[in-house]
Amino acid sequence: MTAGDVTEAPARSQKPAERRKYRMLIGGEWVEARSGETFESVDPFTGRPWADIPRAGPEDVDAAVRAARAAFDGGPWPAMSGTERARLMRRLAELIAENAERIAIVETTDNGKLIREMEGQLRGLADYYHWFAGAADKIHGETIPPDRTNFLIYTLKEPVGVVAAITPWNSPVLLMSWKLAPALAAGCTFVCKPAEQAPASTLEFAALVEEAGFPPGVFNVVTGFGEDAGAPLVAHPGVDKVAFTGATSTGKLVMKGAADHLARVSLELGGKSPHMIFADADLDAAANGVVAGIFAATGQTCMAGSRLMVQDEVYKDVLERLADRARAIRLGDPLEEATEMGPVAFREHLANVERHIAAATDEGARLVTGGARPDAPALRDGFFVEPTIFGDVENTMGIARDEVFGPVLAALRFSSEEDALALANDTPFGLAAGVWTRDVQRAHRVARGIRAGTVWVNAYRSVGPMAPFGGYKQSGMGRENGLAAIGEYTETKTVWVELSGATRDPFKLG
Ligand code: NAD
Repeated sequence: MTAGDVTEAPARSQKPAERRKYRMLIGGEWVEARSGETFESVDPFTGRPWADIPRAGPEDVDAAVRAARAAFDGGPWPAMSGTERARLMRRLAELIAENAERIAIVETTDNGKLIREMEGQLRGLADYYHWFAGAADKIHGETIPPDRTNFLIYTLKEPVGVVAAITPWNSPVLLMSWKLAPALAAGCTFVCKPAEQAPASTLEFAALVEEAGFPPGVFNVVTGFGEDAGAPLVAHPGVDKVAFTGATSTGKLVMKGAADHLARVSLELGGKSPHMIFADADLDAAANGVVAGIFAATGQTCMAGSRLMVQDEVYKDVLERLADRARAIRLGDPLEEATEMGPVAFREHLANVERHIAAATDEGARLVTGGARPDAPALRDGFFVEPTIFGDVENTMGIARDEVFGPVLAALRFSSEEDALALANDTPFGLAAGVWTRDVQRAHRVARGIRAGTVWVNAYRSVGPMAPFGGYKQSGMGRENGLAAIGEYTETKTVWVELSGATRDPFKLG
């Protein structure tokens, strides 16, 4: 069984040969939307539609949540031992590794991110399922010493129930897996609504879940738009927990929607992460790290190091190095191995990025390089924008405060460590930060002083299944990855057992 009608894997660097027609996986069945409606997924390199996707509405969402409930309430999944669940998760990991290239090509065709990034991401994805499979049989409560001798008190860790995952377009399968792997380990069932701009890879992934042999209803996918599929999923009373990744503004709506039925919520939201270079840093390595932070993935990552902060003494030198490197970045077909930067993911987003660039110029930021669409004929149809750097930025300017989610770097200068920390923390966001210095004491001091969920020292944009990831402030709540993530998908039950059989005073707390 497969997600789409066209099943053959396209060859390396080849787009899917025919336009694909996908179906959704609900309760173990591959289905169209009940309305019969579909929408187009557009390839951002060619600007043309390449796949037709079911447009789910509230009825489809209801069917998916019911399927997940049936697999949970007295269903097979939470009844299995952690050891059995882990076995299936490991099988899924093997299938992901076997199909990494094929799914990476689908993802690149859908969102325009480089094949070299997506393939690496998909291969690494198997590790997340192996890691959480390793945790599945180690989720346990504890025995608690009571303050009286006639009681035994212990806790049980139980799955939270049906999880609704809503994901963005930039790394659809990876960001879903940050939710799915711990949720499966904990014994939850799952409904995913991927972003409308890049839904195909999640449907391809669903076919692997089915092939691995998970019971029907454990994993369901509904594809559609935020208003008519995302919002009804969040508001569905059959959902126990909403795990969301996306924009901060949408996250606030999600939290309000979940509040009506008090579903648990975890949010991974936007950022404007400071990337600090001290004068004592290895400047070559730091410049390379800044490129990784803002031009990798065409800047479309939540953890983008979009706010560069450079100490006065080396500010000019660093900006010159970065401008040279930015001008040399190879733009092109994201399916070509040699390409370093692809298009942004969709037409409206390109307009968005261009608006931010125009506003920065109007505010008086100095354009160091980029700022326009490239004029090479080969790039004309794609949603390309040049790698862009603004210098002499003030932290009060929009370009230093608002998330662009594109290849646009705002460079600020600082004089001292105190000055750097004050600037770094002067933001509503708190997702990540980078610090480049050779001074080990400063590195730890600054890492401690920054209010953000992840700090990289002499590195940037590294993640892994073992390390918690998430935001302070308006970058979100809750943590994905690491053992902390298991806590997001479990409830704690406390059991009190009276041991003596003695009669108690019924009118006293005891
Ligand atoms: P978005 O918020 O527009 O969309 C994300 C998802 O939410 C999509 O599936 C969309 O259909 C859905 N959605 C939209 N409106 C909804 C509603 N009212 N109710 C329920 N669901 C709704 O975000 P995007 O443009 O797809 O992604 C970019 C944003 O995601 C950026 O802000 C970025 O920083 C953030 N992001 C965060 C992380 C992280 O881990 N912190 C990772 C990647 C992206």
